[in-house]
Amino acid sequence: MRLVEQAHNFITNHLNAGDVAIDATVGNGHDIVFLTRQVGQQGHVYGFDVQPRAIERTKFLLAQRHLLNRATLFQCSHELLIEKLPKKQIGYVQAVMFNLGYLPCSDKSIITLASTTLIALDAALECMANGACLAITVYKAHEGGTNEYHAICQWLNRLDASCYHIERFTDTLNPLAPELFCLTKEM
Ligand code: SAH
Repeated sequence: MRLVEQAHNFITNHLNAGDVAIDATVGNGHDIVFLTRQVGQQGHVYGFDVQPRAIERTKFLLAQRHLLNRATLFQCSHELLIEKLPKKQIGYVQAVMFNLGYLPCSDKSIITLASTTLIALDAALECMANGACLAITVYKAHEGGTNEYHAICQWLNRLDASCYHIERFTDTLNPLAPELFCLTKEM
């Protein structure tokens, strides 16, 4: 199974109609389409991306599927997550997705960076409800990717193991294969 499908399966088990979710890197918009379908008419998804192109394309994709009213898109860095999220949602978010790296078929010099990714990950944990989930897909093959990967591994190691359950998925035969971390905030 592809990592993106594994990430979606993991999220499906935690995210229900009426819930609130965050897509921290909307990119080409496929994850946010999945999330908005999952939360239904009564739920909401907040999406972040620094690239206007990503935000525009995602808006188009959501509008085409009549899902735009279930999403709020911010063209800014995900390190501003806490500032941008309506205060009433802090502590109530059920699912967060990070799909790191660069936007496929676009400018490969615009990548997520450990320094800002870690701030955003801390913010994500703060926003999450008990029992909520966080999926992080990390890419190692591009320049800067391994650095971000190691920073995320260290960040995960620092988390209190009694509060967070972590599973990892990867192709163990290929050291440069992307890796998926699935984290659940214990009740
Ligand atoms: N590599 C993935 C897609 C990643 S897209 C795949 O193959 O599916 C990653 C997205 O993160 C890009 O659209 C990029 O613009 C965005 N991004 C980079 N830095 C960011 C930041 N600080 N905050 C929010 N989004 C960011």
